[in-house]
Amino acid sequence: MNEKCAVVGIYGCEDASKLAYFSLHALQHRGQEAAGISSSDGTKLHTIKKRGLVMRVFDEEKLNTLSGTSAVGHTRYSTAGDDSILDAQPVFARYDLGEMAIVHNGNLTNAEEVRNALIKKGAIFQTFMDTENLIHLIAKSSKDKLLDRIIDAVQRIEGAFSLVFLSRTKMFAMRDRFGFRPLSLGRLPNGGYIVASETCAFDLVSATYIRDVEPGELLIFEEGKEPISIKVYEPTPKHCIFEYVYFARPDSSVFGQSVYKTRKNMGKELSRVEPVEADIIIPVPDGGVPAAIGYSQESGIPYEMGIMRNHYIGRTFIEPTQEMRDLKVKMKLSPMIEIIKDKKVIVVDDSIVRGTTSRRIIRMLKEAGAKEVHMRISSPPTTDPCFYGVDTPSKDKLIAANKTIQEICDYIEADSLAYLNEESLLRSVNSSVEEEKYCTACFTGKYIV
Ligand code: AMP
Repeated sequence: MNEKCAVVGIYGCEDASKLAYFSLHALQHRGQEAAGISSSDGTKLHTIKKRGLVMRVFDEEKLNTLSGTSAVGHTRYSTAGDDSILDAQPVFARYDLGEMAIVHNGNLTNAEEVRNALIKKGAIFQTFMDTENLIHLIAKSSKDKLLDRIIDAVQRIEGAFSLVFLSRTKMFAMRDRFGFRPLSLGRLPNGGYIVASETCAFDLVSATYIRDVEPGELLIFEEGKEPISIKVYEPTPKHCIFEYVYFARPDSSVFGQSVYKTRKNMGKELSRVEPVEADIIIPVPDGGVPAAIGYSQESGIPYEMGIMRNHYIGRTFIEPTQEMRDLKVKMKLSPMIEIIKDKKVIVVDDSIVRGTTSRRIIRMLKEAGAKEVHMRISSPPTTDPCFYGVDTPSKDKLIAANKTIQEICDYIEADSLAYLNEESLLRSVNSSVEEEKYCTACFTGKYIV
């Protein structure tokens, strides 16, 4: 299961589901497969979830049925395959304490083990989602209060989780001890609260950022009270560096830093450690834009928009077969011939996964008349799959796990290829290898759990 999703929670606000809806819009880049919202009117939870984009799943009429002053929402990203809406979130359940809805971003690493143990004891599962484990753990806990049951349940799960739980009267937000996935807390203009995967959701609903939910922290939202904080685990931050490299939106701040600034730093570092003589520098849109700007500013090589992106095509990554992916890259990106012709071009992208995108782009640029094409990647070679929530294919499909840099360069047909090194990447996010504050497993194979 490969998921990279967005979660949002709204508490203490009229029309909570509408604010959740707008927030999910801002977080759409984190998952385009399915969307869902559960709201509570104080006595009952209401849930709508469906496959498709946020805008397609909800309309005014549907949002009106999601009444109440609290809501949780989710957008789902997973590899294609199961088109069951049961695998969309929120996960909703009725149990002995009432009703609850859960939204989850991240992957649980002991999901199968816990699931099998639960099944052995007679539990019946409706979905393939690791998140469903939590419902069972909470429902089966011997504790009387939901809060204690949540603490009980989260102590039995391992891996990456940024979670928001909604009951009829309360909301809970929790992050794993490593803080793999982001989760921020903000205040809504009317005094209610919002938690969301990225702060770009706050801007859309005019919320003010307060702070991040700490790794290992559980926040409890109750009517008429400030959020109460419980330290469930001692925090040991290992934030996902790939949020900065690729996943988060540039106008967000995650793990306390501007994504745009860190990406621009990556470009600057790249220009310092991997310089090359060229006439122009162009980004692979949209991922490569901030790093290309940084590279250009540092090197003095003019930045140009050399590739146009068709915004009406989804992410190419989602397609299951190689042929479909090839075709989609073609449909999505086209060259600006007048900019490229007879030029020595540096192309900047954030990462190479299978190599499909880079190979296509370089061919396209050469066909458009580029004299030389030098590929620069603003992160280290992606050599290892992620088990904590980023959608990466298995190791045998990761080009950098199976080829040397020169072999990759030959495969993508570039005149030169260079990646950012680990030290420079960490410097770009104002950290260092010694600090060990980030999870770099996709580049280093150093897995934390
Ligand atoms: P590929 O064609 O397989 O080498 O994919 C590389 C492209 O996919 C780059 O342009 C990246 O910006 C983008 N990319 C990297 N990681 C992901 C991911 N987890 N999901 C979707 N796209 C990604």
